Amino acid sequence: MDLVVDDISKTYGQGAAARVAVTSASLTVGAQQLVSIVGPSGCGKSTLLMIMAGLLKPSSGRVALGERRVDGPPVGLSVVFQDYSRSLFPWMTVRRNLTMAAAAYRLPKAELKNRVEQALTSVGLPASGDLYPWQMSGGMQQRVAIARALVVEPTVMLMDEPFAAVDAQTRADLEDLVLRVRDEYKVTIAFVTHDIDEAVYLADRVVVMAAGPGRILEEIAIDLPKPRDQVETKLDPNFAALRSEVFRLVMRPGTTQKIS
Ligand code: ADP
Repeated sequence: MDLVVDDISKTYGQGAAARVAVTSASLTVGAQQLVSIVGPSGCGKSTLLMIMAGLLKPSSGRVALGERRVDGPPVGLSVVFQDYSRSLFPWMTVRRNLTMAAAAYRLPKAELKNRVEQALTSVGLPASGDLYPWQMSGGMQQRVAIARALVVEPTVMLMDEPFAAVDAQTRADLEDLVLRVRDEYKVTIAFVTHDIDEAVYLADRVVVMAAGPGRILEEIAIDLPKPRDQVETKLDPNFAALRSEVFRLVMRPGTTQKIS
């Protein structure tokens, strides 16, 4: 299902305290595509993602998932945040955390059980259902957070800097995990990051944002071969060319937030 962002603007506060976070942003994430949203701190990436999730109301413009307007969290949309320790309940086992995530869907017991076990297998944690999140490493907890998002069999997954807090090796594994579950669950993904390599490696398209005020600067098609591979893809001269193109846009004068 396409996720369409149509001329979204968002201003926080009012009067003298008003702050324009995003202005006139439009983009489409096509079905089963992965679109990365990249840009400097404060350019409105998280604001835009929260509006796409139906968690924040835009000041103007509209978001649609397929034919339906998004004006609250839609069925079949999951969000994965950077801070996995806050998306999981520490006093519940992993299995219970996943079961809770689908509570509102009122699935038959057997179906729910299958989905939970399938999601854990998909994220490489088939035998971890009885553990508590605090017994796991950060990388494992973020895998659980992804499994939690998958239990509802989402059509769209929105990810807000999900791997910013893990080490480089784990990050590479988790990036490949995202690409695998995208294919396995046929899910459409918008992925916010400030890491340019990550944005290019994962995406079908990179949306580059700029700050002051937050806006979309450009969209770049990433026509690198699939499946992506951490070594081969990054050795491809086209990868280097694309990352330089994104880097130049992100670093362009007048695109970062003024510090006053
Ligand atoms: P990014 O995710 O790219 O770092 P954000 O969407 O978090 O950007 O923020 C965009 C701008 O909006 C920033 O200037 C930030 O300070 C401001 N902002 C974000 N959230 C709020 C809020 N709740 N109230 C007021 N200003 C906010």
